[in-house]
Amino acid sequence: MELTRRGFLAASGAALAGSLAFELSRQSVAFAFEADQEWKLVNTEEYTGVCCYCSGGCGSIISVRDNELINLEGDIDNPISAGGLCSKGATMFQLRNVVTEDTREVIHNPNRTTKPLVRRPGAAEWSDISWDELVKEVARHVKDTRDATFEEKDKNGLTVNRTLAIASLGGSQQNNEEDYLILKSMRSLGVIAIDNQARV
Ligand code: SF4
Repeated sequence: MELTRRGFLAASGAALAGSLAFELSRQSVAFAFEADQEWKLVNTEEYTGVCCYCSGGCGSIISVRDNELINLEGDIDNPISAGGLCSKGATMFQLRNVVTEDTREVIHNPNRTTKPLVRRPGAAEWSDISWDELVKEVARHVKDTRDATFEEKDKNGLTVNRTLAIASLGGSQQNNEEDYLILKSMRSLGVIAIDNQARV
């Protein structure tokens, strides 16, 4: 087939117009799709947090709407983790919310413990206890155990002022000041077995 200059320009123009029309039609479908989707983080308040799972202390951004947790992800501005969370930290969302297997709805995690519980000696079940009762009971057990096991001197007559019956184990959420107070309290009781997960 012989192609004239005029024919070549006409064919090129038609191809360009067809291609442009195709691209525009694709874009309009994409825009319509986006407009239909509700933006997950719309109208949320953002709070920063620290992962509770290990002493790495990775930072998180917690998005909340109407007192409901909407999203939790790594904090890009956190100098320690720079937005990263390991697989354990990335599942922190499930501390409060889980997705149901059948309907894929987001519901409050039914396994989350939201109040203090106690299992009495010999009991098979856990029962409710108020925070006031709990603190009083723990304080009483600590005092009784310390008084019953306190040693002023060891078997060689060396002054030790200690109890070996109590240990203190801290968590990764404690800050410097809290750890200072815990250490002072434990030392004042004579506790020497003191450790903390946040030993980075
Ligand atoms: S995200 Fe992972 S590495 Fe970071 S603090 Fe949590 S558990 Fe540790």
